[in-house]
Amino acid sequence: MKTLKEVELRDKRVLLRADLDVPLDERGGIKDDARLKIAIPTIKYVLEKGAKQIVIMGHIDRPRGQVVDMLRMDRVAVRLIKLLGRHVYKLDDCIGKGIPRGERIILLENLRFHPEEEANDEGFAKQLAAYGDIYVNNAFATCHREQASLHAITKHLPGCIGLQVEEELKHLDIDKMKKPIVALIGGAKLKTKIPLIQAMLTKADKVLIGGAMIFTFYAAQNLEIGKSLCDMNYAMNAKMMLNNEKLVLPKDIVIADYENQEAGIRTVAHNEIPKKSIGLDIGEQSLEEFKQELRKAETIIWNGPMGYYEKPPFDKATNELAKIIAELDCNRIVGGGDTADALHKLDIAHKFNFISTGGGAALELLAGKELAALKALDENEVNFS
Ligand code: ADP
Ligand code: MG
Repeated sequence: MKTLKEVELRDKRVLLRADLDVPLDERGGIKDDARLKIAIPTIKYVLEKGAKQIVIMGHIDRPRGQVVDMLRMDRVAVRLIKLLGRHVYKLDDCIGKGIPRGERIILLENLRFHPEEEANDEGFAKQLAAYGDIYVNNAFATCHREQASLHAITKHLPGCIGLQVEEELKHLDIDKMKKPIVALIGGAKLKTKIPLIQAMLTKADKVLIGGAMIFTFYAAQNLEIGKSLCDMNYAMNAKMMLNNEKLVLPKDIVIADYENQEAGIRTVAHNEIPKKSIGLDIGEQSLEEFKQELRKAETIIWNGPMGYYEKPPFDKATNELAKIIAELDCNRIVGGGDTADALHKLDIAHKFNFISTGGGAALELLAGKELAALKALDENEVNFS
């Protein structure tokens, strides 16, 4: 797979798949332009290397194959103009439109207005490919999907990865991480985290588990978990991991009354959760144990909050661990939107070595899977001329 720096860009038309999926407020305004800022170095690099034209494409949200006015790319165009300090010409569709002479930076309309995008349609990909001589994939967060602008398109143009994807691959390669590796895994849905936990039990040296997933592990041991979140579909998977010496589960839990979560807040042992309570954070003793394990690490991989961090005081363990990890002198890698959000709220994100821009994609990569779009780039090496 080629990287952007290995490709001759002079006088070429570059078709860039970027990650433009910004969060919007109720009126369609851009709430956070972090993703657009991540696209800027790649766009600037392409222009500096003398590309004739750069055509940028991406999606916002899930319009499900229909035109949804609120999800048009117009505001993205305006923000890109501001961030680049250069003009960006926006087209009203992503296929079949002509580009006026002299325009150097072009933005296509939301790809997902066409159902063919998510269907990985060949013909649609070919129409997109008509806009470029070279394809650049810089949309890391969507690289685990088989979609036309990421996957089918690789058959029609010579392609490479953009600067952000290159960074992500460099930082999320667990085989290159310094040992001992300690993985800290939290969050809500065990379903999405099982492959990650399994991979970490193989590749890491310790795997500390927090978040709502712990209750499935307790339930798998027939412990009372009250009204805590739990997914019995995965109890067997959990049970099979229980005997692994690398796995560390919390020994105390912060609970609240299920009916009124402002009441009954206290810490109990993990095997003493009352029937009418819900577990919402890990307790002080577990926090201490996790801290001690984290201090031994050369590399820490963190994905998923330790508790219901959106609602204090259940943000305590997440915040305390974040602050402690921020001060440790080792390689610290973070994946997951909510985890990143927690770090940004504390204003300590800059202290971490790497915060991935991909949720699902980062999980798949860390779990040792090849990302579908990158695999396609690799396999369909259309020749560069
Ligand atoms: P990330 O986006 O970092 O990958 P996830 O999306 O997997 O993280 O999980 C984050 C969510 O998990 C948050 O909304 C958080 O409130 C929830 N969560 C964590 N622990 C608990 C818990 N004990 N009870 C309920 N929700 C929890
Ligand atoms: Mg999340």
